Amino acid sequence: MKVTSINQRKDGNFNIQDACGKNYAAKRILCAVEPNLMASIFKKLIPKKTDLGKAIASDAFQAHPGIKFIIGYDKAYWKEDLFTGMCVVLGGKKVITECQGVPLTVSFDATCNVDNTFPKLSGIICGKVAQEWIDIPTHVLQEQLLQTLADLVGKSWPKDGVQYFKMKAWAGEKAAMASTLFSIGNMRHLHLLRKPQMDEKLFFAGTATANKFVFNMAGGAGAGQRAAAQIIKAIKPETFSVNNMEHFLSY
Ligand SMILES: Cc1cc2nc3c(=O)[nH]c(=O)nc-3n(C[C@H](O)[C@H](O)[C@H](O)COP(=O)(O)OP(=O)(O)OC[C@H]3O[C@@H](n4cnc5c(N)ncnc54)[C@H](O)[C@@H]3O)c2cc1C
Repeated sequence: MKVTSINQRKDGNFNIQDACGKNYAAKRILCAVEPNLMASIFKKLIPKKTDLGKAIASDAFQAHPGIKFIIGYDKAYWKEDLFTGMCVVLGGKKVITECQGVPLTVSFDATCNVDNTFPKLSGIICGKVAQEWIDIPTHVLQEQLLQTLADLVGKSWPKDGVQYFKMKAWAGEKAAMASTLFSIGNMRHLHLLRKPQMDEKLFFAGTATANKFVFNMAGGAGAGQRAAAQIIKAIKPETFSVNNMEHFLSY
């Protein structure tokens, strides 16, 4: 069911309307869609000018394209050189005419000891950098990414030791309809979404409302546990011990 609007009825209960025009009544609401979608659902109930309205405003977050990559090596060269594998690049020099900087934002050691496969470096090309590099042929992008790593560590192993290279530009994924990356917009009032609203009748969850692992799966799970604890506290506070409650409410 796709919810299109949530309003309050005269008796104090909520009215939920779906895309087919059906109406449902509810005493309490838990909303776990991303804030940008909340803005249209609560258009009438939560005025734009209020602090809560600003927290769910459509400019609260901006999605950016992200290109993820994994590079497999025959051995963990970076460890031999006493590097962690983590690199962070803010732009970098111009290496091809079409793009302003190098095709790398962050890399890290993604070696998985469980599957016993190649040591790996993984990473992301983010935001404007990804936007520029997304149209460049993959072999050029790959070459420049490996060259960037080689320049950063001052050795040739980032290019010479490669066993495999995989890359995924998530922005082009139709089913996802979104990006893995978001940047901060008007987030001053976002903290309000972590607290029960309207006399403990309206609750929010979703990864954007998490205080850890925001915009990751773990953030979504944590925020869901927090919202569940808030609802239990509002409905049946005697169900949880104080310690448990504090733990979940901390998300
Ligand atoms: C392409 C891509 C790759 C990613 N890769 C990773 C990764 O490798 N690791 C990682 O940790 N995270 C990754 N993420 C992020 C991760 O998927 C999200 O952080 C996580 O799914 C957020 O969970 P959530 O519960 O907050 O929201 P969602 O999972 O988005 O759930 C929101 C739900 O609300 C529903 N909904 C929306 N609007 C309405 C409406 N009007 N009415 C009713 N229901 C509605 C949606 O259908 C959806 O089921 C990726 C995200 C994307 C898009």
